[in-house]
Amino acid sequence: MSISKSMKLEELRIEFAKPICICKACPSYPKEGAAFCRAGKSEKEIQKEYCICYRCWVYRSDGLKGEFFCAEGKAREDFWEEIKKKEKDIK
Ligand code: SF4
Ligand code: SF4
Repeated sequence: MSISKSMKLEELRIEFAKPICICKACPSYPKEGAAFCRAGKSEKEIQKEYCICYRCWVYRSDGLKGEFFCAEGKAREDFWEEIKKKEKDIK
């Protein structure tokens, strides 16, 4: 995806993480997709072997916990999710 002015911040965060994501080097990689911690889980079936997310810069910079985001979805610690929750509380 190319970056355009109309992209939302949330989409930009996902696109920023994709080239940094190390999922392709993981034995559990579902053969497509990236940055599952921010983008959400893969639609492919995951053969869980182990998860190397803890070695990723995004994992460390976002202070993530957990693993297998490709199978289980976005990281709960994702600060973007926290912002959205706070917005709902204000409304
Ligand atoms: S933490 Fe895992 S899913 Fe997120 S960008 Fe890094 S390797 Fe990819
Ligand atoms: S989220 Fe974890 S288990 Fe899934 S492909 Fe990325 S590193 Fe591997």
